[in-house]
Amino acid sequence: MEPVPCFHCATLFTPRNKKQYCCRSPECQKARKANWQRIKMKTNSDYRAAQKFSQKKWAAANPGYWKAYRNRNPKKAERNRVLQTIRNRRRPVQEQQADVLIAKMDARNNIGFQPVGQFWLVPLIAKMDATKVNIYTITDTWL
Ligand SMILES: [Zn+2]
Repeated sequence: MEPVPCFHCATLFTPRNKKQYCCRSPECQKARKANWQRIKMKTNSDYRAAQKFSQKKWAAANPGYWKAYRNRNPKKAERNRVLQTIRNRRRPVQEQQADVLIAKMDARNNIGFQPVGQFWLVPLIAKMDATKVNIYTITDTWL
């Protein structure tokens, strides 16, 4: 067969068959596998359910792993926290109203919290200045 460019690194390689689209370098094989799994997770609900079950089983067998991981990698933990905030906002409204966010299963019920007063809105992602806002109660019937 004639050499073809690798789908991942664009290096020319000679494929062993017509289906091979990545070279044999470990990095490209890892990328190919990740791509395969990403597509499988999007398109196959049985595979998705099996992965979820498997990950839960592993997490139960390795308690404290993710807590230790977050302690070892504070920057990654902060990045994930910010990205999770965005993912939560993109979720359909019905799911948001279910009051259960992904990372916080036992979301606190804010009974008694009065969002009235002066607050600073601080952007988490874009580098913008904080904005001071005043929140007033218009009517008591919304509570
Ligand atoms: Zn490659």
